[in-house]
Order: sequence, then structure tokens, then C-alpha cells
Amino acid sequence: MPWETVRKGTLPRIAPNLGDYAEECARFSWPTARTGLEGLPGGRGLNIAHEAVDRHAASERATKVALRCVARDDSVTCVTYADLARSTARFAHVLRALGVGHGDRVVTLLGRCPELYTVVLGTLKNTSVLCPLFSAFGPDPVIQRVTLSDAQVLVTTADLYRRKVAGRRDAPASLRHVLIVGEGADDLPGTVSLTTLMAEADDTFTVPPTSPHDMALLHFTSGTTGTPKGAVHVHEAAVAHYVSALYALDLHQDDVFWCTADPGWVTGMSYGIIAPLMHGVTVVVDEGDYDARRWYRILAEQRVNVWYTAPTALRMLMRTTPRAGPHDLPRSFDLSALRFIASVGEPLNPEAVVWGRDVLGLPVHDNWWQTETGAIMIANFAACDIRPGSMGRPLPGVEAAVLRRGEDGRAEVADGHVTVLEEPGQEGELALRAGWPSMFRGYLHDEARTAAAFADGWYLTGDLVRRDADGWYWFVGRADDVIKSAGHLIGPFEVESALMEHPAVAESGVIGRPDPVAGNIVKAFVTLRPGFDASTTTRRELLAFARRRLGPAVAPREIAFDQHLPHTRSGKVMRRLLRARELGLPEGDISTLEDSAREAPAPARTEQSA
Ligand code: ATP
Ligand code: MG
Repeated sequence: MPWETVRKGTLPRIAPNLGDYAEECARFSWPTARTGLEGLPGGRGLNIAHEAVDRHAASERATKVALRCVARDDSVTCVTYADLARSTARFAHVLRALGVGHGDRVVTLLGRCPELYTVVLGTLKNTSVLCPLFSAFGPDPVIQRVTLSDAQVLVTTADLYRRKVAGRRDAPASLRHVLIVGEGADDLPGTVSLTTLMAEADDTFTVPPTSPHDMALLHFTSGTTGTPKGAVHVHEAAVAHYVSALYALDLHQDDVFWCTADPGWVTGMSYGIIAPLMHGVTVVVDEGDYDARRWYRILAEQRVNVWYTAPTALRMLMRTTPRAGPHDLPRSFDLSALRFIASVGEPLNPEAVVWGRDVLGLPVHDNWWQTETGAIMIANFAACDIRPGSMGRPLPGVEAAVLRRGEDGRAEVADGHVTVLEEPGQEGELALRAGWPSMFRGYLHDEARTAAAFADGWYLTGDLVRRDADGWYWFVGRADDVIKSAGHLIGPFEVESALMEHPAVAESGVIGRPDPVAGNIVKAFVTLRPGFDASTTTRRELLAFARRRLGPAVAPREIAFDQHLPHTRSGKVMRRLLRARELGLPEGDISTLEDSAREAPAPARTEQSA
């Protein structure tokens, strides 16, 4: 292992929310978890919005800032918990007045803006179901998802509505109301101004009885490996949101917390809205676009204590400030309030952890979860040492296992039973014992796919991992991304991480390309850092570098340069698309693809290793 463990003793102090890991796991039980949640008054159940807003608004925290919204022009608007209680009450009344009730779906097509928080939490107060979409989706993915969700209400801006929904003949029949945030509803037939409706609504609202098992959220998955699925989540998920933010994100009530994830993705909802508000912290809401300087400035000026982001964002920061170069950009900002960075969405390359330590002087904690799990399941805990390259250990209350794989690469199920691999170091499919509070309750309208995700009391994640002797989990790859080459099983992550250690490499995506001799050979698509040429010399050097680091069986045999790797909107490299383009196969569902990667690039020149 070339990567030393990053010791917590050498890092800024972290208030340990987690005492002894083993002890905490042993005494943990979901029903009695230390959540501080109170449930609806009068024993009328559990409602996410009550826990995230009204509970605080009725306490001494009412005047505390819940949201600090940083607009594109850098002006800052603050919203207190009391303000949020009133605006969400108004929106709940708006829905009620429109005849939208329990279980009805409300879809948002909005960027990150203050109104989004009002709409999300107001919908939950009304016990309706919130379904967030990426505002950058094109018209087809929007219509497809609005239809799949049986939405009655769409909340969006005039501009987004005009560009993505207006005039579509295939607009879903269920859609009864389009509410427009900001100006412009007057010019759009069939829409209503949200501001007008809100102005007429009462600002107190009694949350109706809510069962913890009532549907609360509908999240479409990132579509990295196929058609997007609508995962159903319930109000009980609040328990897991709270507990995971306590252990994995180390949230304390005085903290300022910032999550960069888009609100159209599960992370933007679970940790951009619900979990931090449940902890009563101050949440930074950035309405601007990605820009390294802007991000460092927000971290410094807003005195952010905990920052939740994704490997792709960190890799972008790394591009602007490599470890080898001068560290002027981050050094010109005061990041002293920041305790640590947490990352999710893709495997976090060890190089990023080492970069965080060397360039920012900060630990970067990887954690693993999925749209289906609803909350963080496996983490490098804030209070514990980090093992760079490892996803971490299961949260207390989460039972994880590595299952033996069958011929098709997924967990082998024989007579309804799976085989748990107890020995450390073995690769298999990651499974979670079914029944944690934020577990998805199924894919909407897709019973067959839901049933296929469970076996023998386990939820099968579709990710391949190994567990080391100390119980840490290491990501190998998605079951359908793993490459079989000359009898070896190769996880793309291992190859990508090794390439990242070379100063020329900003990012890479690794696939298997069919080969008559080896079955598959490993091919890497590489994005170069500024200052490096896509030359034969660079390519040869990278091939040799990878061979030295990984050995000839695992190292890529071919490297192609690609400055625009296809990413999903949640920031993941779409290896299946790289592979389809390489092999001239149909691209499949690319509705979640980022715009910049929409055009297939001209075939990249490749070079084989000796
Ligand atoms: P789809 O299911 O539609 O193909 P998706 O799996 O990318 O899309 P998400 O639920 O957003 O949709 O992503 C979860 C997946 O992201 C995980 O299954 C895993 O493959 C990957 N992932 C998330 N966090 C990590 C991590 N820390 N390390 C490695 N992989 C991660
Ligand atoms: Mg998935």
C-alpha cells in the first residue's frame, strides 16, 4: 500500500460524534437511535418537514439562520428557521387550495434557489410527494420523468418551462398545474405565478398526520448504467438522514454546512436540504456556477465548517492547483473554519485525499451510498482515521456483506439463498441487510426491477467491493463496469486511480475492449492537465507509468486522450457510453448525460503498449 493512513491526530481537531466504532455499532439500534427527533405533536406520526423546520421554529433556534443564499452576484440573503416555517406553510396551503393532497406528486425543475427549499419542504408538510429533476435536463428527459412520476404539479421558472415543456404534445395528462417561480407567468398560458399564490396563502399550517411509511420523495437514479429508475422513499428516511449526518458528516448545531450537489440528485436533497436542517445548522445555498475561485471564496467568507462535494469537483480543483505546483490560489483564502471535506458519488481516488492534505491541509472523507439507500451507508467517519482509497466502514445500524458472484457477475442466488464471503480480501457484490429507515421502498411502476434488487433478506447494490481484515470496504467497480482480461477481474477505479498519480492526468475513464486473445483489454481515456500535450511521448510515458504501478496484467494496453469525458449530471464518468462509442454500439439512454459530452467526439487516436 503506497498510501499511508491519514491520522486524525495530525489533522485539525474534529469533535468526535463517534466514540469507539465497535462500541457504537454494538449498542446501536434504529428504533431508538440518538436522533433527537420528536415526531408530530400528539403522536400523529413522523414528517420530514416538521423535523427539519417546524421543530426548530418552535424552539429557541427560531431566529437562527437556516439558509444563507449566495446569489450569482455574490449578494447574500439569509432565511431563518421561522421564515422557512412560514414560507413552507404558505406553499402547503397553495397545494391544498389547488386540490393537491396526500401522495400527489410535485415535480421541481429548478436550480438551487431559496424557493426550492420552500417548495420541497412545503410539499412534504402537505404530505404530498416531491420529485426533483435536474434543471439542466433536456425536454425529452423532463417529459419522460414527469410522465413516469404521474406528476400533478410542476414548479419551474418561465425560462425553463418555455425551453423544456411548453408546446409539447406529449405533455403528461396527469399534469394539472404549472407554477412559475419569479417573473413571466403572465406571458405563459396555462401557468400561474407562485409569488401571487404564496401572497394569498396563510403562513401557519398544521401538518396532517403522517405515517413514517408514507411516500415522501421520488428520486430518479443517475442513469450511469442504464435507464433511470424512480426510487420511492418514505418519511421514516429522516432517521437515517439524521444519524448519517451525525456520524459521517459530524454536524454540530453551530456549524455552517455546504453541499455542492445539484438539487436534482439525491445528494442535493438528502444532504443539501433535509439532513443539515434536521440538525438545525446553517446551510449555504450557492446559486452560482462552478468556479474554483468562487468556491474557495464562499468557503472562506461563509466560514464553512463542513463541505460535502464530489470527486469530480475535487478533481476540477486539483486541476487548478496541482500538488506539484505553487498553492497560491487556496492559500489566498482563509479556510481555517473548515474541519474537513466529505465526498460522494464516485470512488474517491487516493490522490485526491493526499491532495487535500498537502494542498488544503484538510482531510477528505469518502463515503458511499446510492439513490436507493437514501442516506450514507459506508463512510470514512469524520472522527476516525482515513484510509485513502477505501469507502470506509458501515454506519452503526448498517449491516453490510460481500456476496459471492455468479456467472453473470452479480451475486449468485441459488434456491433463493446467497453466499456471504466471510474471508477478508475476497471480491464480491456489496449487499446491505434490508430494513434500514431510508431504504427505497421500490422503483415506481417497476415491480420486476424492485424484486430483482433483493434476495435472501439483502439489498443487492450492483457494486463490487472487497472488505479488508479490519472491516474497511474497498470499491472495485460497478458489476457491469468490471473488466475481465486474461482471467483477471479488473476494476476500472484501480486503473484510473493509478493514472491520476501521474502529474499529466486530470481525470480518466477506463473500459474493457473486446480482444480475441485476452477476452478484453484495458483501454483508458485520459483528460490531460493544462501544460501537457496529447503527444505520442506523453502517451508512451503514461503507458509505462501504469505498467510500473499496476503490472502488465492490469495496466491499460491502450490510451486515448479525451478532454471531454462524458459525465452524468451528477458528475460521474459514464464508462458505458465510452464503451458504446468505442465499439460503435447504440448509446442507450443518455438522458442524464451532461450537455458538453452530448456530441460523440471524433474517434480518439490510440496507441498500444508494447
Ligand atoms: P444508475 O443506477 O441509474 O445506473 P447510479 O448508480 O450512478 O445510476 P446513483 O444512485 O446516483 O446512480 O449512484 C450510486 C452509485 O455511485 C453507486 O452504486 C456507486 O457505483 C457510485 N458511488 C457512489 N459513491 C461512491 C463511492 N464513495 N465510491 C465508489 N462508488 C461510489
Ligand atoms: Mg445505481
